[in-house]
Amino acid sequence: MSKNTTAQLQQADRNHHLHPFTDFKQYSATGGRIFSRAEHIYIYDSEDNQFLDGMSGLWCCNLGYSQPKIIEAVNQQMQQLPYYNNFFNCSNQPAAEMAKALVEVTPDGFNNVFFTNSGSEANDTNIRLVHRYYDLLEKPNKKLIIGRKNGYHGSTIAAASLGGMEFMHKQYRGIDYVHHIDQPHWFAEGGDSDKNEFGLQVARQLEAKIDELGEENVAAFIAEPIQGAGGVIIPPDSYWPEIQRICNERDILLISDEVICGFGRTGNWFGCETYNYQPDLITFAKAVTNGFQPLGGVMVGDKVANVLKTNDGEFGHGLTYSGHPASCAAGLATLSIMQEQNIVENTAQTIAPYLQQQLRSLSDHPIVGEVRGTGMVAAIELVKNKNSREKIADDSAAAVFCRDQAINNGLMVRAVGDAMVTAPPMVSSKDEIDQLVQRLHRALDATA
Ligand code: PLP
Repeated sequence: MSKNTTAQLQQADRNHHLHPFTDFKQYSATGGRIFSRAEHIYIYDSEDNQFLDGMSGLWCCNLGYSQPKIIEAVNQQMQQLPYYNNFFNCSNQPAAEMAKALVEVTPDGFNNVFFTNSGSEANDTNIRLVHRYYDLLEKPNKKLIIGRKNGYHGSTIAAASLGGMEFMHKQYRGIDYVHHIDQPHWFAEGGDSDKNEFGLQVARQLEAKIDELGEENVAAFIAEPIQGAGGVIIPPDSYWPEIQRICNERDILLISDEVICGFGRTGNWFGCETYNYQPDLITFAKAVTNGFQPLGGVMVGDKVANVLKTNDGEFGHGLTYSGHPASCAAGLATLSIMQEQNIVENTAQTIAPYLQQQLRSLSDHPIVGEVRGTGMVAAIELVKNKNSREKIADDSAAAVFCRDQAINNGLMVRAVGDAMVTAPPMVSSKDEIDQLVQRLHRALDATA
């Protein structure tokens, strides 16, 4: 691509394209980088600069970018049946097959799926499902949902309301029946407490919130196994067992938002398996098609599905593209690659422990307060003072600077608060993980 074309593209983009989660004023002044191709775990901009993609796109291209089987499956499907809806007693072959394939990879007790295009829509769908469930059980007051501060469940009004991102809440009026409890972020909020004691205390806020709101009014608790967009918040070991106990003892549904954690990221097919809890509903999206086509949905556990499927009456909810044939074809190809190549098990045994071990070598760096992570996801918390854990800056400027240094060194990572976040593709080699860690090291040196 010639320089001239790049300049023209950048100008068109700057002048006419409103980007997600972007300062429009700033972007229209500075513009951005245009990406033009990708191969394996590398992406290339329009000037052919290469970047190691330490974020798997946006936590979605878990198998990297060179997956001809997925592309071929979509291509074939587009030629055969590019679209038909799944309303009015209609279905299509890939949607039916994908539903069955998903049931095979999700934990026992999940035998039904509702398809959406994205994680946000899937979480909107969760609200509709839990409200319908309790209505059918003749508990119409059970409408309140509890989420977590700093959780991320998407960007539609309902999904953002479930989430606890303060800066997002400030910009819109959310739905009023969602309440939030604290996140299990020991490094930032645990002070000098014992990690597991902190985990228990934060989990017990759920019990207190249910009591405060009245169990007869609360429908569900939603949480990510590991908070991803919030900064890879790894819960203390004590956290999930306590949440499970509370949900078992109380009549509320547990929704596991696995949009990031699902499909192998944490070392198992789903994060709830890594942390050994049993949700009633599982949200998925992103890596289900390796990010190649938009597809999301809710895996509905038998407890809920049995009520929904044995009562008369239409579920008043759906999307034009629910179960889109091309997206489901991409999903089927993705799952079959993962199964044939034993991707989840192999990653958990080889490259994931290597990534975690190599990243821990950054712990000694003077501005690193904590390296945390599991499976193929990690965060490096930047600090001014290692012992006191004093913040590196009052705003996120240092982490943003560090991220930009990483990009200048040919590595795509993300800055969240004071943390550098990485979630590289599961098909990365040891050499490529070495490259990632070296480039990150250089970015830390430049920030120190
Ligand atoms: N849930 C979680 C845990 C996410 O991380 C995201 C996106 O990052 C979403 C939901 C929203 O998904 P989408 O952007 O596909 O709407």
